Amino acid sequence: MLAELIMVGTELLLGEVIDTNSAYLAQRLAELGVDLYYVSRVGDNRKRIAQLIQQAHQRADLVIISGGLGPTADDLTKEAAADAFGLELVLCEDALAEIEEHFHRLGRSMSENNRRQAYLPAGGKALSNPKGTAPGVLLELPEGKAVIMLPGVPVELKAIMEDSVIPYIRQVLGEENGAVIYSRILRFYGLGESAIDDMVQDIIAAQTNPTIAPYAGSGEVRLRITAKAANECEAIELIEPVEKQLLERLGPYFYGYGDEGLEIVVSRLLLAQKQTVAVAESCTGGLISHKLTNVPGSSGYYMQGAVTYSNAAKTAVLGVDPQILAEHGAVSGQTARAMAEGVRKWAGTDIGLSVTGIAGPGGGTAAKPVGLVYFGISYPGGTKAFRRQFAGDRLLVKQRTALAALDILRRHLLGILEEGLED
Ligand code: ATP
Ligand code: MG
Repeated sequence: MLAELIMVGTELLLGEVIDTNSAYLAQRLAELGVDLYYVSRVGDNRKRIAQLIQQAHQRADLVIISGGLGPTADDLTKEAAADAFGLELVLCEDALAEIEEHFHRLGRSMSENNRRQAYLPAGGKALSNPKGTAPGVLLELPEGKAVIMLPGVPVELKAIMEDSVIPYIRQVLGEENGAVIYSRILRFYGLGESAIDDMVQDIIAAQTNPTIAPYAGSGEVRLRITAKAANECEAIELIEPVEKQLLERLGPYFYGYGDEGLEIVVSRLLLAQKQTVAVAESCTGGLISHKLTNVPGSSGYYMQGAVTYSNAAKTAVLGVDPQILAEHGAVSGQTARAMAEGVRKWAGTDIGLSVTGIAGPGGGTAAKPVGLVYFGISYPGGTKAFRRQFAGDRLLVKQRTALAALDILRRHLLGILEEGLED
């Protein structure tokens, strides 16, 4: 299957909004094994959108359009699609009922404009939007081709893509090939993409079904294993031995599957082990607490956190001995340990986790360069400290630090955390 993407919105051409939707859609299509040759951006102009839709429809089997489904006058995607194929816009009762229900749920009254969102090009099917008012549209066309329209708001686009479009593409692919394409994504932390590639290159090269593709995320690497088989069960049977082979080499770095980030894996471990955690942060400014509390149900393990940025705060809130700060500095293994112990005592939790480092761009020295971070973890059996050096700008250092802290917590919970710093 060959797809093409059209991103609609004058704001994209003016550079006011960065087009993240096409990156997301392109990733999802790649995971499904759908080819993509062209991605275009076009302003809110009915004629130009219609022309582009016609062109894309000629070149590709599936055209996915983002944006311009809203209720306002500059939202013209459905009108343009109707023009492109010589169709009328007709009221879809199901879509109208869903939009009414959405407003009812929010306790808001619906404007006449919102009724416009229930009009679809004739023959189009509404794709339910769990996160907003504008339904997506699936327009099936002759020769097995289709055009799909999605709202531009990223959470809405993603929700409809996951709930409706991906299952649709899977079904079409299955019918085309008499087979299903099924992927499993393995996530790794602590090794770079090229290191992972080196370690499993021979396995990757030897595989044709399933295929294995590595790709790097921020601070982590994923391997996608994709199998083609008569059905999902058979695809999984093809994937599992390959997964086992990969994990024999990469096991210690493997942490989870699919969409599940480190914080989700950690939260599951904490809940299963009935352990509680408190966090003392310096250079991350609360990012670790933010990640831990992004997971629904976090009140089951996350008790409290402190952002102790200054030395005075480290002493006043966490009870870090001023002598330690004077002797070793705020960015040191000793301070990280004292912070972890301090926050654990303060909160009365099973585990105290801490970070202290230099996010940059200023503040580095030859002995303590920008990107140097110390981590502490305190638990009933003792306290450990670790040292890591990260590259990148201030925000990247913060993000990498937060991931590293979560991985330390994960390894501790699994009983595979290495020995800490000696002094
Ligand atoms: P709405 O109901 O909000 O009007 P819509 O389907 O009409 O939805 P647009 O008006 O095109 O969508 O876009 C709504 C918002 O979504 C934009 O202001 C922008 O912030 C965001 N957005 C649109 N297109 C993209 C894109 N390609 N990548 C990232 N964000 C986008
Ligand atoms: Mg709009």
